[in-house]
Amino acid sequence: MFFALFLATHASLVLLYPFTLSRFLFTGLIYGAGTLIMLYLLFHPRNQWLVDNRSRVDGERCVALTFDDGPDPVDTPKLLDILRDKNVKATFFVVGKRADQFPEIVHRAWAEGHLIANHTWSHRNLFCFLTPSRLRSEIDRGTESVRRICGFRPRLFRSPVGLRHPLLRPYLKDAGLEYVSWTIRTRDTLARDSSVLAQRILKQAASGDIILLHDHLPGGTQVMLKALPRVIDELRLRGFEFVLAGPREDAGAATPEPAAFESAH
Ligand SMILES: [Zn+2]
Repeated sequence: MFFALFLATHASLVLLYPFTLSRFLFTGLIYGAGTLIMLYLLFHPRNQWLVDNRSRVDGERCVALTFDDGPDPVDTPKLLDILRDKNVKATFFVVGKRADQFPEIVHRAWAEGHLIANHTWSHRNLFCFLTPSRLRSEIDRGTESVRRICGFRPRLFRSPVGLRHPLLRPYLKDAGLEYVSWTIRTRDTLARDSSVLAQRILKQAASGDIILLHDHLPGGTQVMLKALPRVIDELRLRGFEFVLAGPREDAGAATPEPAAFESAH
């Protein structure tokens, strides 16, 4: 579908010949509309056209906290401490390359009842323009990293910045992964003030929401770490329960390969 749109949009350029002003305007309109639709398909985090995706969780008064881009050697352990103190389970979309660097942190998160999911191998920002083989390796290496550390293949996937790729649907199907997006974009990546961040989340939170946060950012995640306890307490007061973004039972009695830990030291 995407490729047909791409071809049709570019084929519309033949209408420019022979050149007149009205043909130019007409072609510009078609070309502009086609390009806008393609950009929407590639960039809008919740559109269902290029890949089926879930942005909500089931259950009365349930919300899911999700943390992307980790693990971080400093901030993720602090986050895990908060979640343990508050007895909250969350979902971590880990970057495979970072997980391989800090496997003990990912394993701790798993052992403490959180869910570990695939956020690609190297978090390429221009994810929607990857070549097919590169796309497949970003997905498969991410999965392999989680499998080595936690002993199971992840079931959930989220792409960098929620970007889509025309081949994402078939490739995720091959890898047995479900795409999970979000309903609340907290903009924690830009937050400077923890009470502003907490307010922004609390103002929007509703039953079934999947909340997007980050446990690794170039400038650190102190603002999020400071806002989080308040967000958790307040949502609990309102009767919300914190759930994982997907099931965990497929782990069974699987154990990680010892090599995954040795390689890090
Ligand atoms: Zn990310």
